[in-house]
Amino acid sequence: MKWPQAMQELSAMVARALVKGWCPGAWRPMPSGDGLLVRVRPNHAALDREQVLALCEAAETYGNGIIQLTNRANLQLRGVADNDWAPLMDALLEARLVDTDPALEGRRNMLLAPDWQAGDDTDQLAQQLRERLAELPELPPKMGFAIDAGNAPVLAEDSADFRVERTTGGQLLVRADGRAMGTAVGSGPQAIDLMIDLAHWFVGSGGANSGRMRQHREPLPDWAPATAVPAAGRSILPLGQHLMGAVYGLTFGQVDAAALRAVVATATVTGIRVTPWRRLLVEGGKIRRVPGLLADSNAPQLDTDACPGAPYCEQASVATRDLAGKLSGRVAGRLHVSGCTKGCARRQAADVCVVGEGGRYQLVFRGRADGTPDVADLTESQVLTYFGVN
Ligand code: SF4
Repeated sequence: MKWPQAMQELSAMVARALVKGWCPGAWRPMPSGDGLLVRVRPNHAALDREQVLALCEAAETYGNGIIQLTNRANLQLRGVADNDWAPLMDALLEARLVDTDPALEGRRNMLLAPDWQAGDDTDQLAQQLRERLAELPELPPKMGFAIDAGNAPVLAEDSADFRVERTTGGQLLVRADGRAMGTAVGSGPQAIDLMIDLAHWFVGSGGANSGRMRQHREPLPDWAPATAVPAAGRSILPLGQHLMGAVYGLTFGQVDAAALRAVVATATVTGIRVTPWRRLLVEGGKIRRVPGLLADSNAPQLDTDACPGAPYCEQASVATRDLAGKLSGRVAGRLHVSGCTKGCARRQAADVCVVGEGGRYQLVFRGRADGTPDVADLTESQVLTYFGVN
């Protein structure tokens, strides 16, 4: 695509983006309160060291210097001016951080078990699915795939619509999200065939009206019987030293480019793996203290979710992250601070949700950000007083 044409299309996209339900990508940046939000979908849930350094430089040159890790294991830059989008895309293309084909990039919604090994089933299946993305039908933008073919699944709680896992007996299995059981298959190519067929069935059976597989209650077709029991899940990667490197947590899912650059500066580091759990696996790294990164699994920030809030998101009427920092570790259980009822930072229930509404805060206990408030119309200082933080 030529850049003048690309910029014209960007203007059209920016206008369209005001319609809700739109899923941003690098080729489809989304306007936000602080400029464009540009999302990078790492191939194979991995960036090599040079790509990490290129992303850090891009964040500092064209964005606000902060890199966010989403709950779909994507990396996003914020605060990009409209005029900087084209040179940013040049930098991302040169670093192989985006696909040259915007259509395929849009379809590449894949989560991978982040501790995959070269040549294992997760590695091979992800590669096979990537090569066959063009065979997929047009799916609702938030739909995606989880390639989770280790001995035990680790992504079962994470957002995906079609999953490859293993049966209790060790066979590969394809499972439609929302169904407790799946269909056992004899080989990797059969698993990919079945996922593509299920995606077509989803569209053909009216699934687009439901939006996601979990909400599509149409009985599965006879050729995809949900009769095989998946193996029991395993824990997500704990913070600290791992066989493959060092696992760090990201406060509220974000890291300064400078901190990320520092963590890959060691000669033994070969790259990073991204996870949907606000954790990064630094391949070949030794765990150490790095300002801005969490290395302790007991850090209270790990139990806290907060979206960017005001002034970074146009839908927010309140700030979130300062308040989340003050409340972190001071409320019992999981805390979610959300700039509005959309609840982008956490879809599941939390023990305490602090939600912005009309410039004030409301509290939802043991519910989601869009739940019925238990307490409403609080100022920030009233929220702090409510939880005994002064
Ligand atoms: S929850 Fe609301 S305020 Fe927060 S990022 Fe999402 S849309 Fe913006």
